[in-house]
Amino acid sequence: MSDKPAERACWCGHPQLESYSDDYRVCRACGTLVSSALPVEGLYSREYWTERQTGHHGLPDIRDRARLDLPERCTHWLRRLLEFRLPPARVLEVGCAHGGYVALLGWAGFEATGTEISPWMSRFAHETFGIKVLTGDVESQDFKAGSFDVIVLNDVIEHLPNPVRTMGHCAGLLSKDGFFVIQTPEYIEHLSYADLRAKNDLFLKHMDRNNEEHLYLFSRRSAGVFFSRLGFPHLDFSSPVYSYDMSFVAGRSPLKPNDEASAAASLSKAPVGRLVQALLDKARESADRWWAMQRLEAKLNPPPPHP
Ligand SMILES: [Zn+2]
Repeated sequence: MSDKPAERACWCGHPQLESYSDDYRVCRACGTLVSSALPVEGLYSREYWTERQTGHHGLPDIRDRARLDLPERCTHWLRRLLEFRLPPARVLEVGCAHGGYVALLGWAGFEATGTEISPWMSRFAHETFGIKVLTGDVESQDFKAGSFDVIVLNDVIEHLPNPVRTMGHCAGLLSKDGFFVIQTPEYIEHLSYADLRAKNDLFLKHMDRNNEEHLYLFSRRSAGVFFSRLGFPHLDFSSPVYSYDMSFVAGRSPLKPNDEASAAASLSKAPVGRLVQALLDKARESADRWWAMQRLEAKLNPPPPHP
């Protein structure tokens, strides 16, 4: 008998995976990239946040991100959530990191809770934003069935060693009309690894030197299969903050969007909600300016015509 550890199977159970790159295999049955890395014990410790994120991934320090993310990623996520659920509602963010989004949800009038694996990060989030954050994985928390109206996983589902088990547990924590909000890297199925290298695609940053963390990289198709099996077959995709990600809500039944006026009316009920609205307005202005610059750039420097 060989001592070689078994390679990671696809979450969907399909047994035959094809080679994709040095670090990933691909499941053609569902359309997921599956990491070949062996499990790393204690990866998400204090060092993950204070050293690996800056040194290995080149990201700003988590203390700076607690400030930088508020008017950028967090406002984008809040605007999206308000499209489908107005406060008051119970929201859980699994893997809340510095906790800025949980804080913003609270200021917007939601009853917001976060979970975080790292005790250091959990304490940091609590001390930085004064939020309710519970330490440990979501399965180990003492939540009752149906405790939440919305469960958010931003940049988390790709890290889960057993996404079927964890998300199955989360599904049980949602109320009858509850739904998931997900952001995760998007694997574009028709692109080979050579295609990605040839165009130096930004998606590579989720793969190269990252396969110990990103265990499953979903495509839109595999996300659809995954959430359908979970009992949430109605996916609504929207523009992500960054082009290499995908962003969607997943519900048991089709979700009806709220109009912007109802969201604004809801935020204006409390003084701090008005501050949140002002932050959302300024964030939208910056985003509109950025897109206008992109359009101008494309007009001034059009891509070469296809041969
Ligand atoms: Zn699969």
